[in-house]
Amino acid sequence: MGYATTNPFTGDVEKTFETATTEQIEAAITLADQAFQTWRDKPVAERVQVLQKAADLLRADVRGFASMLTKEMGKLIGEAEAEVNLCIGMLEYYVANAEEQLAPRTLPAKGFDQGDVVIHHEPLGVLYAVEPWNFPFYQVIRIGAPQFSAGNSIVLKHASNVPQSSLAMEKLFRDAGAPEGLLVNVFASHEAAEQILSDPRVRGVALTGSEGAGASVAATAAKHLTKSTLELGGADAFIVLDDAEVDKAVKWAVFGRHWNAGQVCCSSKRVIVVDGVYDDFLAKYRQGVAELVAGDPMAEETTLAPLSSQAAADDLAKLVEQAREEGCTVEEVGDPVPEQGAFFQPTIITDIPEGSKTSQQEFFGPVSQIYRAKDADDAVRIANASPFGLGGSVFTTDEEEGRALARRLDTGMVYINQPTGVKADIPFGGTKRSGYGRELVDLGLLEFVNDKVVVVS
Ligand code: NDP
Repeated sequence: MGYATTNPFTGDVEKTFETATTEQIEAAITLADQAFQTWRDKPVAERVQVLQKAADLLRADVRGFASMLTKEMGKLIGEAEAEVNLCIGMLEYYVANAEEQLAPRTLPAKGFDQGDVVIHHEPLGVLYAVEPWNFPFYQVIRIGAPQFSAGNSIVLKHASNVPQSSLAMEKLFRDAGAPEGLLVNVFASHEAAEQILSDPRVRGVALTGSEGAGASVAATAAKHLTKSTLELGGADAFIVLDDAEVDKAVKWAVFGRHWNAGQVCCSSKRVIVVDGVYDDFLAKYRQGVAELVAGDPMAEETTLAPLSSQAAADDLAKLVEQAREEGCTVEEVGDPVPEQGAFFQPTIITDIPEGSKTSQQEFFGPVSQIYRAKDADDAVRIANASPFGLGGSVFTTDEEEGRALARRLDTGMVYINQPTGVKADIPFGGTKRSGYGRELVDLGLLEFVNDKVVVVS
C-alpha cells in the first residue's frame, strides 16, 4: 500500500510516496520522544507560542493551504478555506485557554488539619495519531493543538490519499518553531500500528476514521495497555418536528447533508420528518438538492464537490444498490453530475425498512435517507435505532421541546435548529459505535495527561 496524491477532479496521480520501513518508523518514534523530553518541561505559555505562530502562518496564506486540500481530496475551495480558518480558531483557542485549563487544581483536603491535595496535569509522552482524509488539516490540528499544549509529541499517520497535506502539517509546526519531532509524519502501513503501539515510548493513540480501523487500532492499543480515543463514523439524525420552520429546516438539511460532498462524520445523514410536515419538507428538500451544482471544486460557483476518490464513489454506489435490493425507494436527483472526476449523483432514499442494513449503515457521500415519523416520540425512536451515536439535530420553534428532546437522543452532541457543527470552542465526540473520548476544549486537552495527585498532610 503506497501513499499518493490523486486529484479527485482530474483523476491525475500527481505524486507518490513510499510506505515507511520499520527503520524509518523507529527513527520517527525516537525523534518524537526526543522532542517530548524537552517539550514536556517548557511552561505552557511557551508551548502555545508555537501554536500562535502556526496560526499566523496559516492566516498569512489561507488560499495557498486551502488549494492543497482541494487538490488532494477534492473539497470546494470555499470549504477548504473555511477548514484553514477553523484550524486557526482551534490553535488560538488553546493559545487563549490552555494555561488555565492545565493549571494544577487544589481539592479541599478534608481530614487534614493542614496541607492540601493537588492534581497536576502532566504530559504522557509520544502519541500516535491516525487520521482520515476528509478534513486533512483540521484532523491534525484537532489533536495537535491540545496535545502540544499539554506537552505531548505526535507521530502522525495520515490517510494514504493526503500525503502532501500531512507533510504540510509537519512543516507548519517546524516553521512555527516547534522542536524537530514534535510532529513527525510517517507514511505507515496499517500493520505498523503493532510496531508503534508496542513501543513503550508511545503512550496513547487517537484515531479518527471508520469502525473497522478503530476496532483494529484500539485492539492493538489494548494489547499493549495503551490509552486510545476513537472518533468513528456517524449517521446523525436531523429531526424536523411539525412546528419547525420548514424552509429553514430544508436549507440546513441540504447543507448538512452535502457540505464536503457529504463526507463528514457528523453530516445530517438520516433526516427524520414528522408526518404533518413530511410531504412539504420532502418536496422542498428534493428541489434544494436538485439545485446543487457539481463541477470544478476550484470554481466559486460549484456547490457539490467530487468525492475524495473513485474508490469512495464505487463503495457508495454499492450501498445504494443494496438499498434498492432491500426495497427502499431510491431517487437520483438533479442534473447528471460530470463524468470526469469522482462525482456521485445526489440520491434520496425513502421507504427504508426498519432494521434493514440501509438503516444501520453510514453513507459517506451525497445520499440522503429520509424517514417519516408519526410524532416526536416516534422520531426519537427512529433516531436512536442506529448503531451510531455521534451528533444529531432537532428543528422546532419550541426551544424547551428542543432541549428536552435533545436529552433523549443517544448521541454525543445535539444541535437545535442547525446541523451538528464543527467549531473550535465546542467539544466533539460520540457514543455507541461512533467511538469514545472527546476532542477539543478542556475535555480533549485532558484526554492524554497523567492527572497526578500530590497529597501533603
Ligand atoms: P479508514 O478508516 O479506512 O481510514 C482512516 C484512517 O485510518 C486512515 O489513515 C487509514 O489509513 C487508517 N486505517 C484504516 N484501517 C487501518 C488499520 N486497520 N490499521 C491502522 N490504520 C488504519 O477510512 P476510509 O478512508 O476507508 O473511509 C471508509 C469509511 O470510514 C467511510 O465511508 C466512513 O464511513 C468512515 N470515515 C469516517 C470518518 C470520520 O470523520 N469519522 C473519516 C473518514 C472515513 P489508509 O488511508 O492508509 O488506509
